[in-house]
Amino acid sequence: ETLINKIAAGEIIHRPASALKELLENSLDAGATSIRVTVKEGGLKLLQIQDNGSGIRKSDLPILAERFTTSKLSTFSDLSRITTYGFRGEALASISHVAHLSVVTKTKVDSCAWKASYSDGVLVDAKTGQKAEVRPCAGNDGTLITIEDLFYNTPTRLAALRNPSEEYARILDVITKYAVHNPSVSFSCKKAGSASPDITTASSSDTSTAIRHLYGAAIAKELIHHKLSSNRRVHKSEDEDVDMDGDEDEEELDTPATWTAELYFTNANYQAKKTAFLLFINHRLVESPRMKKAFESSYQNILPKGASPFVYLSLQIDPRSVDVNVHPTKKEVHFLNEDAITETIANAIQENLAKQNH
Ligand code: ADP
Ligand code: MG
Repeated sequence: ETLINKIAAGEIIHRPASALKELLENSLDAGATSIRVTVKEGGLKLLQIQDNGSGIRKSDLPILAERFTTSKLSTFSDLSRITTYGFRGEALASISHVAHLSVVTKTKVDSCAWKASYSDGVLVDAKTGQKAEVRPCAGNDGTLITIEDLFYNTPTRLAALRNPSEEYARILDVITKYAVHNPSVSFSCKKAGSASPDITTASSSDTSTAIRHLYGAAIAKELIHHKLSSNRRVHKSEDEDVDMDGDEDEEELDTPATWTAELYFTNANYQAKKTAFLLFINHRLVESPRMKKAFESSYQNILPKGASPFVYLSLQIDPRSVDVNVHPTKKEVHFLNEDAITETIANAIQENLAKQNH
């Protein structure tokens, strides 16, 4: 059974950055406005995340790392995320099978914080590894999650991740993307023992400011902001920013899934070496090689050979139209009308770039 759990865990937690992605989403789900990450050896030795979110109730702690149970916790309210990605409640459980996991958490109504450590889904004493209870301790409002010795019990997996600086780069990349998508949240990330963080963002900045801060000043003047949606009526009264594509009548009749897209992309003056493509679907960071390719081809006759753009797309679609057969933690998602939506957005990029060029 332990072996099966370890294998299942490996499907979800591939590397430190995938563990961190789950933790970031949990903190954001908990309404955190400040998220501090500390890393040792690319996250393999230590991955720690402190948030100022809702905290976890003491009574929920014993089942926190049990598989599939946690989406039913009393504090869990965001049902749309469940329907979006099928079954959930696996991240902390998985981590507890392949690392030493501990949680210090305090809700606003608690008078002290509570600490819990987990192994293979159950509460244990961090020192002895024996079954244990939740203990009171000092701590701030919010949640501190500590993951130590990731993959200590799966040597093959560990051996495949032998470059801590590459793992750290991936961690920084994930945080950077979430920071762009959540400009009202302040993020930081540093190596343990280091005085200065490698990423810091201030809350209350807007998306463009966050992009400039994280991707460099050169991008600022070259950013185009654009909104699109499948349903003309939704945005009728909004500003000219909103642009529609396709035949009006057909659109209103043939739109089984409604969607909205917010896009930030660079013009021809911005030329990076590598495409930065940030895709969030219903606020979850995902990958879509298909979309990436389509957007890159929008730049084909605009950018010189070898030059790459920056594209950030936040897509909101009906949660029911996401393919739930795809495992929720697979980064690559598929959804209803994927091709049509991709084409509409790629065309919008192309049209805007053409306008800029004249
Ligand atoms: P899921 O997010 O799919 O429910 P996880 O294993 O990622 O599963 O998390 C389990 C549960 O633990 C969450 O549903 C949430 O209730 C609680 N939780 C985890 N991290 C935090 C956090 N940082 N702040 C508040 N609650 C949290
Ligand atoms: Mg989660």
